[in-house]
Amino acid sequence: MTNYHSHCSFCDGRASMEDFVKEAIRQGFTSYGISSHAPLPFPTRWTMERKDVPAYLEEIHRLKQQYDAEIEIYAGMEIDYLDAGSNPAIEYFQQLPLDYRIGSVHLLESLEDGLVDIDAPVGRFKVILPVYFGNDLKGMVQKYFDKLMAMVETGGFDILGHADKMSYNASCCDPSLLEAPWYNRLIKEYFSLVASKGIMVEINTKAYNDTGIFFPHVKYFPLLRDLHIPVLVNSDAHFPARINNGRQEALEALKANGIPAVMELHQGKWEETPIG
Ligand SMILES: [Zn+2]
Ligand SMILES: [Zn+2]
Repeated sequence: MTNYHSHCSFCDGRASMEDFVKEAIRQGFTSYGISSHAPLPFPTRWTMERKDVPAYLEEIHRLKQQYDAEIEIYAGMEIDYLDAGSNPAIEYFQQLPLDYRIGSVHLLESLEDGLVDIDAPVGRFKVILPVYFGNDLKGMVQKYFDKLMAMVETGGFDILGHADKMSYNASCCDPSLLEAPWYNRLIKEYFSLVASKGIMVEINTKAYNDTGIFFPHVKYFPLLRDLHIPVLVNSDAHFPARINNGRQEALEALKANGIPAVMELHQGKWEETPIG
């Protein structure tokens, strides 16, 4: 049992890092990675600031040592791609002593009013679409994947975070989105680029218990298989009680779609591990 996408009180997680680790040990996880939201060039209520980073790394180091006999603890970060000046590949993030980096997009440039957090509950998303994006859902979706593809091109990270997460909100606005030929062409182009860069894709189970949806959508698991993209299952937990949510279901869905193995860190090295 593993999870490499976990928040804690250093960012917007709802418990201390140690509480997540203790819960992971209690549930029998063999390795666990902490991945708080990395600093942005401005403060937010959900990201660390650069001044917090030394304490963050120290606390991971302390827990690694304290619980060494029970679990492998790893230091990660979930790093936003904002633009050329702030993304996983910049020197600041590359020089940090991290075991791995997750690359994600949560913020999108609105038409007139700066950055907007599109990783919002669906009710809020339905307000954002007309107010900040001129009600142009297709344009907004295209912009989201353009940004993700710029992140993949720029690199500097190991795991693609919740690969198509905005599509859930977008399909609540247009239930035919996932059937649209233009959308499926876009998804193929995107994952082909991901495959060419050798980046791992997480199956993010954060919303599974509420919505039955994984990110990326299960519909694209055969594409991941055909492109030989290495995958792993992450819960993106913000609460200790949710670290295992959807994990078994995701592993079963992978197997059912012809993906027999997931990536796990063993003694600091990523290894393909058969799904038990
Ligand atoms: Zn995220
Ligand atoms: Zn996250």
